[in-house]
Amino acid sequence: MSQKPSSPVLRFAPSPNGRLHLGHAYSALVTWNAAALLGGTALLRIEDIDAERSKPEFTAAIVEDLHWLGLDWPEPVLQQSERMQVYAQAGNRLREQGLLYPCFCSRSDIAAAADDTDPDGAPLYPGTCRHLDRGEQIERLERGDPVQFRLDTERAMARTGMLSFTVVGPLVTDRPQIRYARPERWGDVVLQRKGTPTSYHLSVVVDDAAQGITHVTRGRDMEAATDIHVLLQMLLGLPSPIYHFHRLILDDAGKKLAKSRGSQSLADLRAQGWTPDDVRRAVGLGG
Ligand code: GLU
Repeated sequence: MSQKPSSPVLRFAPSPNGRLHLGHAYSALVTWNAAALLGGTALLRIEDIDAERSKPEFTAAIVEDLHWLGLDWPEPVLQQSERMQVYAQAGNRLREQGLLYPCFCSRSDIAAAADDTDPDGAPLYPGTCRHLDRGEQIERLERGDPVQFRLDTERAMARTGMLSFTVVGPLVTDRPQIRYARPERWGDVVLQRKGTPTSYHLSVVVDDAAQGITHVTRGRDMEAATDIHVLLQMLLGLPSPIYHFHRLILDDAGKKLAKSRGSQSLADLRAQGWTPDDVRRAVGLGG
C-alpha cells in the first residue's frame, strides 16, 4: 500500500454472503467516523474465502449499499479470494515451526467428544488428533481423508509468553486500555480448512498487516476472537493494530441482527423509502 507507516488506516471487512443490514451499516459508519477523527483512511475489504457462501452479486450489493450511505474508499479493493497463495505461505511458516497439525474429525465427531464450549458457544475441540502418530497422519493424508489443519495453541503459547493488546473507547482516540489475551479458551483453532489454505483467523491477521491497518473497529461479538489474532500476529512477526469493539445493533428481541433471523437488509429499508440519514438515526449516529 502507498500509505505512510504512521498514517491511520482502518477497514470495514464484510463477507459477501448476504445483503448488509443495519448492524453492518453501524459498523461501517463507526469505521468511517473513526477514520475521519484520526485523519486516516477507511478501506473496504471483501472477506470471501468461503467459496460456497460468497457470491459476486453480494459483493456488488455491498459496494452499492455503502456508496448509498455516502461512504468511499480507495481502490483497488482487496478481495481475500485472490490471496490464497499469500495465506498458504503464512500457514506454511506456522507448519515449519511445528505449530499446525492435521485433524480428521468431522463436526459430529467433535460435538460427540467435546465436554466444553468455546467463547462463541460452539463445542470446544478436545484435541483428538493432536497426538496422532506421524505414520497415521501420513497414511490418512495420502489416502485423501478430509483434513483441516489446527493450531497447537498450547505449544504456540509456550513460544510467545504473555500476550496483550490495546483497546480504545468509542472515540477511538481516547482511554487506551491493555487487555490480556487468553487464546487457550478457543482450543486448537482451525487455520486451514478442507480444500482452502486458510481460515477467517489466518486471513484477517495476514491482511490487517498487509494493508497496514492501524486500528481495527469491529463488534463486541468479535472481541474474544481477537485473542487468537494477537497470538497469530506474534507467531508470524506481524504488528498488532489498536482495537475498538463497538456495541451491537440488536433486534426487538434483544438479539444481534442477522440475515438468518430475517433482519431487514439496507436494500429492503431503501425500498421502503428510508434515506441514509434514517439509517444513521436508527443506529444512534444521526442528528
Ligand atoms: N468478515 C468478518 C464479518 O463479516 C469481520 C471481519 C473482522 O472484523 O475481522 O463478520
